[in-house]
Amino acid sequence: MNSASSDRSLPKQARVVIIGGGMAGCSIAYHLAKLGWTDVLLLERAQLTSGTTWHAAGLLTTLRDTETQTRLAAYSQQLFRRLEEETGQATGLIECGSIQLALTAAKAEEMRRGYRAAQSWGIECREIDAAEVQRMWPLAYVGDVQAAFHFPNDGRINPTDVTRALAKGARRAGVAFFENCPVTAIEQHGGRVTAVISALGRVATGIVVNCAGMWARQVGQLAGVDVPLQAAEHYYLISEAVAGVHPRLPILRDPGRSAYIREEAGKLMVGIFEDVARPWRVGGIPPDFTFGEIPPDWDRMQPHLERACERVPVLAQTGVKLLFCGPESFTADHNYLMGEAPNLRGFFVAAGFNSLGILSGGGVGFVMAQWIAQGNAPMDVWSVNVRRAHAWQNNPRYLADRVVETLGIGYQEHWPFRQWTSARAVKRSILHERLAAAGACFGESAGWERPNWYARAGQKPEYQYGWGRQNWFENNAEEHRAVRETVGLFEQTSFAKILIQGRDAELALNRIATADCRVPVGKVVYTQFLNERGGIEADLSVTRLAADRFLVVTAAFTATHVIAWLREHIEAERHCIVTDVSDGWCMLNIQGPRSRELLSALASGDWSNAGFPFGTAREVQIGYGQALALRITYVGELGWELYVPVPFAIGVYDAVVEAGASLGLRHCGYHALNSLRIEKAYRDWSHDIGPDDTPLDAGLSFTCAWEKPGGFIGREALLALRSQPRRRRLVQFLLRDPDAMLYHNEPILLNGARVGLITSGMFAHTLGGAAGLGYVSEERGVSDELIASGRFEILIGDRTVPARATLKPFYDPTAVRPRS
Ligand SMILES: Cc1cc2nc3c(=O)[nH]c(=O)nc-3n(C[C@H](O)[C@H](O)[C@H](O)COP(=O)(O)OP(=O)(O)OC[C@H]3O[C@@H](n4cnc5c(N)ncnc54)[C@H](O)[C@@H]3O)c2cc1C
Repeated sequence: MNSASSDRSLPKQARVVIIGGGMAGCSIAYHLAKLGWTDVLLLERAQLTSGTTWHAAGLLTTLRDTETQTRLAAYSQQLFRRLEEETGQATGLIECGSIQLALTAAKAEEMRRGYRAAQSWGIECREIDAAEVQRMWPLAYVGDVQAAFHFPNDGRINPTDVTRALAKGARRAGVAFFENCPVTAIEQHGGRVTAVISALGRVATGIVVNCAGMWARQVGQLAGVDVPLQAAEHYYLISEAVAGVHPRLPILRDPGRSAYIREEAGKLMVGIFEDVARPWRVGGIPPDFTFGEIPPDWDRMQPHLERACERVPVLAQTGVKLLFCGPESFTADHNYLMGEAPNLRGFFVAAGFNSLGILSGGGVGFVMAQWIAQGNAPMDVWSVNVRRAHAWQNNPRYLADRVVETLGIGYQEHWPFRQWTSARAVKRSILHERLAAAGACFGESAGWERPNWYARAGQKPEYQYGWGRQNWFENNAEEHRAVRETVGLFEQTSFAKILIQGRDAELALNRIATADCRVPVGKVVYTQFLNERGGIEADLSVTRLAADRFLVVTAAFTATHVIAWLREHIEAERHCIVTDVSDGWCMLNIQGPRSRELLSALASGDWSNAGFPFGTAREVQIGYGQALALRITYVGELGWELYVPVPFAIGVYDAVVEAGASLGLRHCGYHALNSLRIEKAYRDWSHDIGPDDTPLDAGLSFTCAWEKPGGFIGREALLALRSQPRRRRLVQFLLRDPDAMLYHNEPILLNGARVGLITSGMFAHTLGGAAGLGYVSEERGVSDELIASGRFEILIGDRTVPARATLKPFYDPTAVRPRS
């Protein structure tokens, strides 16, 4: 290994500088080298692997919470199989397989749904019974096992050796490694990174990759980039030798006990993912923590270890060789932080691996290297994109409180609609107390408390989770019906509001948006922003407020990404400024056939179809206040979004509620918004559409103004695709069995063969069954005829449920209602 030594001096410049020589940094170096990028420098504060990597347990288990995590793990598995032969460095790979236990019917249902999706991503898995678990794991107690799942290709590796192998491969290709070389400063100019300053000198570079593990937050701060992660204590125990234990013993994952158990040199290793974890060094990670350990807290671990002994009773009679505690970094949502920073070009991040950094490390290197070299990731990585994070999340107290919950979440029940319980109430609308008084059961998105559904008088606004109809099913049904039959009020203050202003605002926006934004003042335009490949980076509304001013509205969780996208794609010479004005306005969304009656009674002006046409906006006087009213819909009904300056919001809300009482106005939550939009087949960005889906696939090409002057980003890619047969199309499904529920990732079968996955699903109360959206892929093309005549079924766990399929929405296919 190269290291800092007297005969080697640090180069003065490099194409890429990687900060950190753990699994992430070495894997990115290896993969950049594979792409022919060898003018790469890796700077390590101490020695390679000396942060967190050296003490990882090395589990390679592929079925993860999300498709992205699963694909990253699957790639790692393939890479680690060939790495030893390729580099000559042993990796300690043992392909022993893994078994995951389900101790409750609900966990079995979750696992069945999960492994069915994983099969679609190429993961081998089968359900086994308790007797088979016993045969594979004779020392395990299986009396409480309801179901179990065997992943024959899973295994384990030695994290230090794998990292060395990656470093060896990279170094052979020409990447330079410098150990004992902490980075102490990062220089930038004009919004781009320009150099790193290290203990061994300055290196000029246009690309920096922050792979500093639990220090990544501090390294980010050197550059003014938020990397919201926090270290927490993480434990495993190694017993004394146990007879009958051998290396081929599958890894046993026991979510009921938040534990995994595996062989380790004739002994047993027990890893614990506590439900309530303990953050470590909230004020900052010490700069000299090298191959460090945290003194273990035996009292704290005792109950967990006792529960592990119930699973493998021989442990209770076996001595303990080591109780190990080490720090690992966790994020606010149990997903990684990867990609280019939203506010500094050329500054990439790969950190926050939530104790999955080894098993995903190969995939992380593969994705990051392409992202750096080609400017985009080779697959949809939104769920791990650092641009989903928000600056406020770097608040140390927030992170410390949240990681208490994050650490254990992977082993807990992954209920549909599950809500975080820690670090809540970060952002509240000024209407919060009124909504609570109306019965709101709040959920969290991007830190905002948002009403998901409203409890009736005497009903507690609390979730009772399950895989079938949950306790709020009827509340949702009533809210859903109110919007279809009378009028509903959605409080959507969390939505991001962004002003685009300046002499060149129209020109700049028109190149970024698919739709033609050269519209008269007061016109609302529904559009997408595309990448160069034609993939959908944003899905939003644009309202022209003045000749030189536009308002962009998008979901709160996409705000960082959309703002960065706009700033990066507005050409430098344009006079155009992007400003986030989200917090200045509340948003009340009034939808339903009686919304016109309600608003006419309350607000100034002509609300008739001719006086206030669909797709237009204007300032209105309402109650004692004023608002910007947009006539658009995300639920498929007549309705208006009211953007109310915060000081007027309480008065306007009170006036709406009072006037609505006699019309049957009902408070409606985000679950109703979702069930209504799925019923109407409106797409949701990050579920149904994303950077890998084109408007052609998604049935959204009607937004594309093909002939507008100057075109739009992604147009050429779309034109090339447009001339080819459609091999992938977004379809709406309706289950024929009203008791079956759809959520996400259920496989779609066409004439018995898998052709895609459900991207979002919910019970559609007007249609009387669960509805969902999902892509159907067919090499020979997906014609209207195929969708109309094919035999569709959805695979829900063990059940194959017949479904109707359509390209036009089942509900109001000709979109008469919003325009009425
Ligand atoms: C007890 C335990 C068990 C685990 N078991 C597993 C498992 O079974 N499977 C799994 O997938 N994951 C596991 N993990 C998680 C895994 O270890 C981590 O996710 C992974 O090692 C993170 O790798 P990294 O490269 O991001 O960070 P690190 O390995 O910490 O590397 C970051 C590097 O950056 C360097 N650095 C920091 N600051 C600077 C600076 N200013 N300049 C230069 N260099 C700097 C550090 O010295 C360090 O070497 C476990 C973690 C723990 C704690």
